[in-house]
Amino acid sequence: MRAVVLHAPGDVRVEEVEDARVVEPTDAVIRVTAACICGSDLWPYRGIEEVAEPARMGHEYIGVVEQIGDSVRNVKVGDFVVGSFVASDNTCEICRAGFQSRCVHQVMMGGIGTQSDYARIPLADGTLVTVPGEPTESQQRSLLAASDVLGTGWFAAVAAEAGPGRTVAVVGDGAVGLMGILAAKCLGAGRIIAMSRHADRQALAKRFGATDIVEERGDAGIAKIKELTGGYGAHSTIEAVGTQESMLQAIGATRPGGHVGYVGVSHGVELDGLQLFFATVSLLGGPAPVRRFLPELIDLIMADEIDPGTVFDLTLPLEQAAEGYRAMDERRATKVLLTP
Ligand SMILES: [Zn+2]
Repeated sequence: MRAVVLHAPGDVRVEEVEDARVVEPTDAVIRVTAACICGSDLWPYRGIEEVAEPARMGHEYIGVVEQIGDSVRNVKVGDFVVGSFVASDNTCEICRAGFQSRCVHQVMMGGIGTQSDYARIPLADGTLVTVPGEPTESQQRSLLAASDVLGTGWFAAVAAEAGPGRTVAVVGDGAVGLMGILAAKCLGAGRIIAMSRHADRQALAKRFGATDIVEERGDAGIAKIKELTGGYGAHSTIEAVGTQESMLQAIGATRPGGHVGYVGVSHGVELDGLQLFFATVSLLGGPAPVRRFLPELIDLIMADEIDPGTVFDLTLPLEQAAEGYRAMDERRATKVLLTP
């Protein structure tokens, strides 16, 4: 089968690799009907994360179950399924509390790779959710978004306690930030302020539910958010970048007593204790427990109540994955979908 392999920063190749197969009795193998390139795939692509050896890429996927291990009960061959970027048993205490991304038996799908023709899914019973009926092509795109960016944006909005009567600020105009806007709107937030300085992303942000745009960054961005909120700051802030500047911007934009949901993968962020102490905000973040939200998101997508698949603005065959990485790296594409 074919798979995307990153050999060194900027060096993405599609290669023949050993076929995916059932290794553990709790595994399933799926035929990947669509995968995508994640903003977090750009960290090693840009050399910000070390590439010590050739690495399989991808952790988002939808597909059809091809094989199951002997102990798999919840999915069967032929099921159309969605899973998240962390395989989880969905039975341990952490999972049952809704934090499946930190399951005591977690397996990171990025270590297996899903930008490929087939993928092994560990802990299939806990990880995979079967989609009822036959999703249309546009529903399939949305289900793929649910696998990571939508689920992550949704968690960020929930962690930030976005809801009716609350003003939400969103730091980051990548796919996750945009999905955070969609989530905040679905959760009932009336006012959603997108922080973005790119016209194309601003248009998408508005389409997903943003009511205001702030172009300023850093202290100027914080001042603008306060100006828009009667001097108070946002009730709920979504941080979807992961840099020092974006994290400080998120905390600074939030009013005392407010909540920050941070889901940008942290790179070099250091917080000053005293500054944090006086910020008086709740911080909740980390790798999003997408599995918690998948059943609800699948229902919303299959009822055509949300259309997050529109976040994909470039579709390429797997064979052209390298061009997909370039397009995202150069910001010519927000989110790239890879087809077989
Ligand atoms: Zn668990």
